[in-house]
Amino acid sequence: MAKLTDPVTMLKGVGPAKAKQLAQLNIHTLQDLICHFPRGYEDRTKLVTISQLEVDVPACFRAMVMNTPRTAHIRKGLDITRVQVADHTARLNLTFFNQKFTTEQLEYGKEYVFYGAVSGDYGGYSMTSPSFERLDSPPVTTRRILPVYPLTAGLSNATMLKTIRQALSICDPPEEILPPEIRQQFGILPADRAYFAIHEPSSMEEAEMAKKRLIFEEFFIFSAGLSLMRAARAKISAVPYANCDLTPFLRALPFSLTGAQNRAIREIQKDLTRGTPMNRLVQGDVGSGKTMVAAAAAYLAVSNRQQAALMAPTEILAEQHHASLSRLFAPLGIQVLLLTGSMTPKEKRLAREAIAAGDAQLVIGTHALLTDATQFRQLGLVIADEQHRFGVAQRAALAEKGSNPHLLVMSATPIPRTLALLLYGDLEVSIIDELPPGREPVDTFLVGENLRARINAFIRKQAAEGHQCYVVCPAVEESEELNIKAAETWAETLQKTVFPDLRIALLHGQMKGSEKEAVMAAFAAGEADVLVATTVIEVGVDVPNATLMVIEDADRFGLSQLHQLRGRVGRGKAKSFCILTSRNKNPQTLARLKALCATGDGFKIAEEDLALRGPGDFFGSRQSGLPAFRVASLSCDLATLKQAQEASSAWINAHGADDTKEANALRSRIAELFRRGQLTMN
Ligand code: ADP
Ligand code: MG
Repeated sequence: MAKLTDPVTMLKGVGPAKAKQLAQLNIHTLQDLICHFPRGYEDRTKLVTISQLEVDVPACFRAMVMNTPRTAHIRKGLDITRVQVADHTARLNLTFFNQKFTTEQLEYGKEYVFYGAVSGDYGGYSMTSPSFERLDSPPVTTRRILPVYPLTAGLSNATMLKTIRQALSICDPPEEILPPEIRQQFGILPADRAYFAIHEPSSMEEAEMAKKRLIFEEFFIFSAGLSLMRAARAKISAVPYANCDLTPFLRALPFSLTGAQNRAIREIQKDLTRGTPMNRLVQGDVGSGKTMVAAAAAYLAVSNRQQAALMAPTEILAEQHHASLSRLFAPLGIQVLLLTGSMTPKEKRLAREAIAAGDAQLVIGTHALLTDATQFRQLGLVIADEQHRFGVAQRAALAEKGSNPHLLVMSATPIPRTLALLLYGDLEVSIIDELPPGREPVDTFLVGENLRARINAFIRKQAAEGHQCYVVCPAVEESEELNIKAAETWAETLQKTVFPDLRIALLHGQMKGSEKEAVMAAFAAGEADVLVATTVIEVGVDVPNATLMVIEDADRFGLSQLHQLRGRVGRGKAKSFCILTSRNKNPQTLARLKALCATGDGFKIAEEDLALRGPGDFFGSRQSGLPAFRVASLSCDLATLKQAQEASSAWINAHGADDTKEANALRSRIAELFRRGQLTMN
């Protein structure tokens, strides 16, 4: 028997070239291979006759080869092979493109099973490039439920399938970790059957059962892991803060806080005085004023002679927080310091010295704050802004920095309640459900290409009134590189041919930190009329004079992401607008975008997003901050999620502290998986 940790190269047929292709998919060991789950299935179990084939509906049928395949060389790079097959009901012509070698396997007079779809044309029916197997060979691509795997260039589904089959035949699947009573209660397949059935289901029902089991397991581990994390943090003690007076801070503010802001601050104050580290999430829609809540928390820490660190997901945002919080805290005699990756080595060294000496009381930065090079004298509070960009792993890393500091995370991503439990299971939650007074909703429109002239006129009108616009370029799926190209090209087009008289600026993620800062600062200072950008401006950016946001090819973005982007306008006194353009005609897509036009409520939008796209997409989307679940991201139903949560919290309550062999084994498995696989972030 082989071991799960053995490399894939120990398999027959897996040489260096294939291993390299597999590595592209993050598959290195037999375990990785066995855990490479199909993204879907094709039911190829049913055999029909040729006369039963329906146009454009793929199906399996058994037929005899009626002549010797003939290949014609049409031109360089194009070979066409033709062959005729028949069963007792009809004859059918098959055509293959550039498959000379495969088709030479078709032998005159022999029977095969084919899988493909017929097309009907004037000359009768024919079929193009069906897959086929000899009737007397074991079923691999026909006569079965065919798993469809995520693949990479050069690696075919059939190869993947055979490789996984081989792995399953020589080693045991990952061991069972779910207690039998839980499996029984929720009707969950045992591990060995599930790992086998997910790849080789005997029916679609069995495939579903296997999937459910694996999703359940993933959620169970994740949510139990969060609970354990929370329990561990609750045992740690922290120096309780004195309940100091916030009045000087409140007096320094240019406005009075909203009821919701005050409530969140009171909750934080309570946490800080309790004697265990705070673990709190402040969730509030874009523009609800979370920064001031963070500032109040920092003020409390500093008043207790502790340092506070504020982490932002982008340098632009860190820079902006530094500017506004310095202004706020300077009159109060509090030292605010910036530390980002793009500062010069000397600047960084000086900043780190001030942090180590304790002179810097509030330190603002990006992830660079997390590196070991930064040592705090007395770090008492860590704040992570726009938490959805960091995810659970970084959150855990943060909590370990210094001597168990208090932790405050802030997020504008309105995760629906069911998913919030999963994502934030280790946190207490404060919700800011109130916007500062005087905010008008951002009028949002969905328009097609036919209104391009009117969009341009509208941009011009805003500029003429002294306002500014954002133009966000289409997200080219998963490719920051191409996104940049789109933004660059579009900025150039706008400047050269549409608005030669306006000042167009460009901002994207691959610009150097200092460049980005310069562009953002210039835009904030009103030195550009239009800022063409990629989604780098998605979070936090605050330029109140910007009143128009145009989002090109809005259908390429998720609803919650669009909502975040829209949050960049409507921050000042003037009426603001958001224009979504789309060339997509799909009614469902348009319905999704119209939902955004109809409401400005982030929670409603998130619920809508969840209902329309399902949790699979929610988990899959980079912005959610959810871990990259292996199975759950394929597709899953909320019911399974709820069950797994219920099961894990019941188990933690009943056995979380047990000192039995089973409980210890399960706990350490959870801790291990939690550390290893489950925390890989999107
Ligand atoms: P977010 O919750 O999206 O982080 P911010 O903290 O950036 O929101 O606040 C958005 C804007 O609202 C900022 O310009 C901020 O100064 C302003 N603001 C925050 N709180 C209030 C308040 N209570 N009254 C008026 N304006 C406020
Ligand atoms: Mg913010």
